[in-house]
Amino acid sequence: MTTGGVDLGGFMKTRLSVAGLTLVALLSVELASQTARPRAPQDFLGFRVGDDYKLADWQQITTYFTELDKGSDRIRAEVVGQTTLKRPFLAVTITSPENHARLDRYQGITRRLADPRGLAPNDADALIAEGKSVIAITCSVHATEVAAAQMSMELAHNLATDNSEEVRTILNNTILVLVPSLNPDGLDIVVDWYKKTVNTPFDGAPVPELYHHYAGHDNNRDWYMFTQAETRAVIDGVYKRWHPQVLYDVHQMGSNGARLFLPPFMDPYEPNIDPILIQGAAFLGQAMMNRLIGEGKTGIATNAIYDAWTPARAYQHYHGAVRVLSEAASVRYASPIRLNVTDLRPGLGYDPRTLSWKFPAVWRGGDWRLRDIVDYELTAAMGALENVALYRERWLRNFYRVGRKAVEWKGIPFAFLVPPDQRDPVTATEMLEVLQFGEVEVHQAQAPFTADGVEYAKGTYVIPMAQPYGSFAKTMLEKQAYPDLREYPGGPPQRPYDVVAHTLPIQMGVKVVEARQPFEATLTKSATVTPPPGMVEAGPARAYLLSHDTNASFKALNRLMKERVEVFWAQKPLTLAGKAYDPGTMIIPAAPGVGTKLQAIAKDTSVSFGATNERINVPGYRMSAPRIAMYKSYVASMDEGWTRFILEKYDFAFTSIVDTDIRSGSLRSRFDVILIPGELSERQIIQGHPPGTIPAEFAGGIGENGVQNLREFVNAGGTLVAVDEATEFAVHQFALPARNTLEGVPPQQFFVPGSLLKVVVDTDNPIAYGMSRETAAFFLENPAFEVTGNAKSVATYPLTNPLMSGWILGPERLQGKTAVAEVPVGQGRVILIGIRPQFRAQVRVTYKLLFNSLYYSAATLGTIE
Ligand SMILES: [Zn+2]
Repeated sequence: MTTGGVDLGGFMKTRLSVAGLTLVALLSVELASQTARPRAPQDFLGFRVGDDYKLADWQQITTYFTELDKGSDRIRAEVVGQTTLKRPFLAVTITSPENHARLDRYQGITRRLADPRGLAPNDADALIAEGKSVIAITCSVHATEVAAAQMSMELAHNLATDNSEEVRTILNNTILVLVPSLNPDGLDIVVDWYKKTVNTPFDGAPVPELYHHYAGHDNNRDWYMFTQAETRAVIDGVYKRWHPQVLYDVHQMGSNGARLFLPPFMDPYEPNIDPILIQGAAFLGQAMMNRLIGEGKTGIATNAIYDAWTPARAYQHYHGAVRVLSEAASVRYASPIRLNVTDLRPGLGYDPRTLSWKFPAVWRGGDWRLRDIVDYELTAAMGALENVALYRERWLRNFYRVGRKAVEWKGIPFAFLVPPDQRDPVTATEMLEVLQFGEVEVHQAQAPFTADGVEYAKGTYVIPMAQPYGSFAKTMLEKQAYPDLREYPGGPPQRPYDVVAHTLPIQMGVKVVEARQPFEATLTKSATVTPPPGMVEAGPARAYLLSHDTNASFKALNRLMKERVEVFWAQKPLTLAGKAYDPGTMIIPAAPGVGTKLQAIAKDTSVSFGATNERINVPGYRMSAPRIAMYKSYVASMDEGWTRFILEKYDFAFTSIVDTDIRSGSLRSRFDVILIPGELSERQIIQGHPPGTIPAEFAGGIGENGVQNLREFVNAGGTLVAVDEATEFAVHQFALPARNTLEGVPPQQFFVPGSLLKVVVDTDNPIAYGMSRETAAFFLENPAFEVTGNAKSVATYPLTNPLMSGWILGPERLQGKTAVAEVPVGQGRVILIGIRPQFRAQVRVTYKLLFNSLYYSAATLGTIE
């Protein structure tokens, strides 16, 4: 075939349209040739992978992989999902042609070894002898870490065309599932930005938006909550199909440390990770490093910087697989940099200027280019492939043993129980769905039963620990006790790489019981857990009642507002027909057609409406749909992205506003509430990116002018909600009667690096309606306030140690301090939320603080009659 004109259409039907997706990007490209030997990337792209100043975009990369697929019987490229912004999500299977003919068989073998219940030892041996080791390599989840996605083309081409003994052994023994990008949307965002700024004074400037539409850099912290499309695509399309024994995730880090990091990770490892996997990461990481050092590569660090605690970054640790990552020193996207040895700085656990076993070859400085990263990553990948091919049987046997130990679990607890009487039943269902997506088997009791001497109702969900992925359930359901690690004895705390608590029942507000001893019960396995059906109580009604306790009630409320139904929040407790209702109970006066609307809403949102024929006469807030603005800084905040994600999820209507909107004023006529999300300092909000560091349209923050406009907005009756670090901005710029008592306190005296803490909330305050008086809050190096004057404390730390899960140093510093406050200012108010109320769309127990604050801004107090 000559250039152009290949029938991509037919090819699409057989291969790429399996997921039923529209592939506009791919269809618009014509393949250039169809030959037995596929072109090298440089012949396709017109430049060599890793050349200075050159980056391929997602269309080029996907097109190149379709060409490899067509031109090589070793390679099969498939679309296994769709990204957040509707790009095709690609997985590429690379192995020998003989193995390609039997992929179903090999998938079946790893699936069987992963769940060895009922598998006789002899049969396991036979499967291990027959099977192929499976390794997944995933590239550039962090889209600014550009090298790996580019490298993936060259790695695939090498494996498609190299006929050496080594490559043939790899292809015969091993199946590689290569994901060229875990974040194709971000890849294009970054490549576009680079093309716009390269060869300008702004070469290397930060991307002024999140490179994952919602999660930004947190997109690899989603591996237990599974909220994002890409997370779900790779788990469904790669992990659940292949049950790989190894995942190699390819990253980059800052420029001035090691040239590359490889495992073993630093302590601590999370205690539910099987020892086979802890050692496996060291075994494989060192094999990769061995190959790199053997090639004369320098500057490689191990057992440094990165620990292995949070499952948010490590799905594999609980699914039988070894997870390794490499972290290469970055250049400025594709622009080279130059460093002297004196520019290098120590990192946690090593010093790049000093030789040690963890750093056996010092890098002497000089030029550092994208191609250097590509070369290191290619060698690292080959080191991993070499190892999983040579030790094919060991990898499969160890994988099987992890599964065998899991299904034969005899430890404590025996099971976790989720009783049906939940304060927020919809969120309880979401928790079970999370476990099920993570391949945990959930059962339901068909009759009452007794466990540890306590009787449990029919309908109780039971999660036995003896199952293939019991360790995932266990780590997610139990409390974390992070070890008290110090930089040196008696010294400051050793900073964890990420947050240290993830207990789902605590952060989602779900009642879960640990059953320590074995018990008997009649159970059925739940294929899918569905939320309890919502309903509307029958009978004559003057009004309908909706509990404020479930997060889903806000989805219902947003719908009611959209359908122009009148809704009040009771301001005081009330008793109707002998039943007590809390403040915040939502009251919907009966009116023609309302009953029918409620029926539909109950069905769609799983909330239930009560009905009363009694006369209601209590003070209450009349609800109207708040006009919400959310501040979007060009200093991209992940917390902004996550907040946007959950507001969309709960059907809130809102407007994103940028610096120029705030600078130009007239805010009160447009909005009732302005939300400043977290992870933004006072300086970042006011000054933004310094002028001269980024194109002018993205430079400067809201400025002094914007601050004044926000003051006018609040004085004229608007509500300003400041979250996390942004509370500092609000306290200072509005001269609020609140003081952060943790300001300047050194970490030796107080340190909470992402733990779940207890707070006591004032449930009579509309900001805390629907919450338990004692609840959990996620604390990640947050402030704690002393409030005076007219400031009202909405959530306060108790007078005891507030730690529920994770790690705390200096708990006494929080005692009696305020976490959340309402401060009247002029005719409006400022709400300070000094915790992380919606951290990574995980901490669902405090979503209501945010949702209530938004609705409160447009509520008017009156009497419900
Ligand atoms: Zn990264």
